[in-house]
Amino acid sequence: MSGPGADAARAEELAGRLAAVRERIAGACRAADRDPAEVELVAVTKTVPAEDVALLLDLGLGTFGENRVQEAGAKVERVAELRPAARPQWVLVGGLQRNKAGAAARWADRVESVDSIRVADALDRAVRRLLDTGGRAGPLPVLLQFSVDGDPRRGGVTGEDLVPLAEHVSGCPGLHLRGVMTVAPLGMDPDRAFSAAAAAAGRVRTRFPQATTLSAGMSGDLESAIGHGSSVVRVGTALLGRRPLASP
Ligand SMILES: *Cc1c(COP(=O)(O)O)cnc(C)c1O
Repeated sequence: MSGPGADAARAEELAGRLAAVRERIAGACRAADRDPAEVELVAVTKTVPAEDVALLLDLGLGTFGENRVQEAGAKVERVAELRPAARPQWVLVGGLQRNKAGAAARWADRVESVDSIRVADALDRAVRRLLDTGGRAGPLPVLLQFSVDGDPRRGGVTGEDLVPLAEHVSGCPGLHLRGVMTVAPLGMDPDRAFSAAAAAAGRVRTRFPQATTLSAGMSGDLESAIGHGSSVVRVGTALLGRRPLASP
């Protein structure tokens, strides 16, 4: 299907899904005695077309997560054409290779997947180059990706490397350390994963009081994450429907 009819149907579907996700967030906040205003909803739009991002902007969402630098760069430009008056915020939530840092620094308003000194340095250099040439207005807010179980396929730093990485990042002039992100390992009880992540984020915050963000919780486990103090939930499938099988 294509054309205005299909667009209206998709807009209606997304509106319903968004209402349901907001209701889940509100319910989890009630259960945890938290203010829903403390929990930011990032729509993870990897693999979905720019047209869906435009519809979510129309519905009042403003922050979008992507996990592939190149796919995102093209989408950012396309969304700007579709909704020139909007000012979406773009967040990189996926693994970052050093050779993609320059491209990511051009469109990312926040990077949540910093998990090594090498990646931090590459991003810092890229941001500072852009600051010098007017390609960015300010430093890049970053989160450190914490790995609960040390599985290298998911990325992230483990417990003992987290605070040293925070120290390094806090010394990078192009980066602003804002906190910690985590993905609960498949098959692990999310409560266990998020309580470990909350403790890790607490250790970082003790040293760096500005690092207040805990990005945790996705479509399947956002209630548990909010119960453990998450301040950012990253929701893909619950908002947009199932991704094509090829997606990571
Ligand atoms: C894909 C992805 C999400 C969203 O996952 P859903 O289960 O579709 O909500 C969140 N965080 C990261 C890092 C992702 O890669």
